[in-house]
Amino acid sequence: MIIEQKPSKNQLKKDFFWMNKSLDLAKKSEILGEIPIGAVLIYQDNIVASSGNEVILRNDPSAHAEIIVIREGAKHFKNYRLKENLTIYVTIFPCIMCMGAIFQSRISRVVYGSENYKNNLSFFLFEKNNTNISMNYGHITVYGGILSRSCSSILKNFFKKRRNLIQPKKF
Ligand SMILES: [Zn+2]
Repeated sequence: MIIEQKPSKNQLKKDFFWMNKSLDLAKKSEILGEIPIGAVLIYQDNIVASSGNEVILRNDPSAHAEIIVIREGAKHFKNYRLKENLTIYVTIFPCIMCMGAIFQSRISRVVYGSENYKNNLSFFLFEKNNTNISMNYGHITVYGGILSRSCSSILKNFFKKRRNLIQPKKF
């Protein structure tokens, strides 16, 4: 895993565009009562798969947005190893499960919006502790911070609202 330095201007433009799509999917997830995280899988400037979180809808704790798009992508290419030069855009730094699936799938680039404040362990393991990971997963580059504020605030507001809902009323 290689932490990407600043991408080219042209690439950054694309990164913002696709992160916006991911953010839209996160918003849709929120409407459905899911944790608002969205992901798109891109190959040669086209969407291969896109999804928000669907753990509740599917009764499946592994139905994170990233896992869903990886599964759809593998079906699309009829191969358990995805094509090279695929980029996954996800609004929040992937959790340990999703990062593992990204490694296994041979996706070559990960772009995330915000570092996941609820999931610092994954961020620490994979991005902050990058040297050991690079040895085994040198085929992946990671770039983060695209639309960071929007990606994290949708999540923070979601948890804030949920906390308020379950708090007992004071008399
Ligand atoms: Zn995940």
